[in-house]
Parts: sequence; structure tokens; C-alpha cells
Amino acid sequence: MAEQRGRLKIGIVGFGSFAQFLAAAMRRQGHSLFATSRSDYSLQCSQMGIIFLRDAAELLEMEIEVVLICTSIVSLEQVLRSLPVHGCRRGPRLFVDVLSVKQHPRDLLLQSLPEEGDVLCTHPMFGPESGKHGWAGLPLVFERVRIREQGLCAEFLDIFRLEGCRMVEMPCEEHDRIAARSQFLTHTVGRVLSEMELEATPIDTKGFQALLQLRDNTTRDSLDLYLGLFRHNKFAMEELEKLEAAFQSVKKKLLEGVGNDAQARL
Ligand code: NAP
Repeated sequence: MAEQRGRLKIGIVGFGSFAQFLAAAMRRQGHSLFATSRSDYSLQCSQMGIIFLRDAAELLEMEIEVVLICTSIVSLEQVLRSLPVHGCRRGPRLFVDVLSVKQHPRDLLLQSLPEEGDVLCTHPMFGPESGKHGWAGLPLVFERVRIREQGLCAEFLDIFRLEGCRMVEMPCEEHDRIAARSQFLTHTVGRVLSEMELEATPIDTKGFQALLQLRDNTTRDSLDLYLGLFRHNKFAMEELEKLEAAFQSVKKKLLEGVGNDAQARL
């Protein structure tokens, strides 16, 4: 259990499953949380000791220090456009996102937020399933994109540090290059397997069980999330094409092998 020392006033924008998972840890650490979302999460929020506000403008009036953006990748642009952050009297001092791609939110946050707001881009590289027994050793990737108030930024990052995350500071573009080869590839293989309607058998090997687990883990995430990993990571298309080429190459080797064996028997 992390040390109880929360002091931050955090406003969460987008209170879907991942935001709820993060918020539970932040509440355990004692931070004050406020949330707004397209759907009504007032019940979930009241059970978690979080104030839910239907209107993002009301959220910004709560004099929060940090805005934590947890919306889907594909809706980010629209959500930012409708967030009334300009001209706030005592607006938030730090804006943080947790999207699973990084260059896209980095660009949009810099374009659309007030110049006086600091920007921290993060990707907690785990979710409600992989992080259900704690976050120790799990990677938190981040880039201090525009940070003038180092203390506030460090205090926010401490949320993850206190949970034992492996803190990985990395430029957003580098994150996307690596994540296309790892996370996007993982999700794509999982989605391909799910097209095959595989089922457990009485003679499952460990390898096959791992495939079923991969399928289940990746399809548990929303289709919006998967679409976002593709549409908003400029390196994803290249990895998709490499996967397709690799499949064709293996298929060719198999078919050529079958032909050679038949010829050898003649
Ligand atoms: P998601 O499907 O990627 O996002 C769901 C969230 O987006 C909900 O808060 C939803 O609001 C909001 N949203 C979707 N369309 C919207 C629209 N048109 N207008 C306004 N809001 C909209 O699912 P998620 O798993 O909760 O992920 C949230 C974010 O965390 C994503 O950016 C994802 O990449 C990132 N992330 C997820 C994981 C994970 O393991 N799931 C891990 C790391 C990072 P309502 O619920 O109110 O409709």
C-alpha cells in the first residue's frame, strides 16, 4: 500500500473504465478528485468519494490544480475543443493525459491549451487487468512536454512512484515508435485470433492457453482504443504491413516445403 500523503486537487475528464481504475489508487493516496464525462458516472463517483460534475465548465470552476485527461484517443480532439479552459480565472496549472499513443495528444495539448498551463504526457502501460494486484514494476512512460512548475509535476508523478511503477522518461515520438512494435502488434494479433472464434479444448497446450489469454486481454479493451492505437500512431501502418508480409512469408515457406516433399517422393 502506498504512503498516504495526497494533497492534490485533480479533475478527471472522461471517467470510463481506465479513469476509474486510476482514480481508485489516487483516492487511496488521499487526493481530492472531481470528474466529468459524457456519460453519467455520479453513482460510481459517490461510491468512490469523488465529486461528479455533468458539465466540464463546472469542473474547471472547482479550482483544481491538475486536469487528468482520460478520454478515448479517437475523441480527444473533440473533447479538447469543448473544454472551456481559455479565460478561466484560476485555471488548472497542469494538464496531464494518459492516452495509449503519445505524439497525438502532445500535439493537440500544445495547440489547444492556454500557454500558461503546463503539459505532462504520460502512458501508464498497464490496465485494470494487468494492474489489479498492484502497480509495482509496471512502466509509467512520460514526457515533461512544457513544465515550468517542477514541484507540481513531481507531485503528480509521485502518485505512480509511490505505487512502485517503473518511471520511464521518454520523448513521445520514441514511445510511439516502440509501442507500435509492441503494444499495437500485441493488440493486432489478439484481434486476429478473436476473428477465428477459438475455444479451449481438452488437450490445450500452454502455448495455446497463452494465445487464448492474449485474445481475451486485448479484446477486453474497447474497439475505440484499438482504432486509436492505429489511427493516431504514425508507425502503426508499417508494423501492420510487416505482420502481413511475415504471414505471407511463413505461408510461402510452408507451401514450398510441401511442394518439395512431394517432388522428392516422385
Ligand atoms: P476508451 O474506450 O479508450 O475511452 C473511454 C473514455 O472515452 C470514456 O471516458 C468515454 O466517456 C470517453 N469518450 C469516448 N468517446 C467520447 C466522445 N465522443 N466524447 C466524449 N468522451 C468520449 O477506454 P478506456 O480503457 O477507459 O481508456 C481511456 C484512456 O486511457 C484512453 O485514451 C486509453 O488509450 C488510455 N489507456 C487505457 C488503458 C487500458 O488498459 N484500458 C491503459 C493505458 C491508457 P464516457 O464513458 O462518458 O462515454
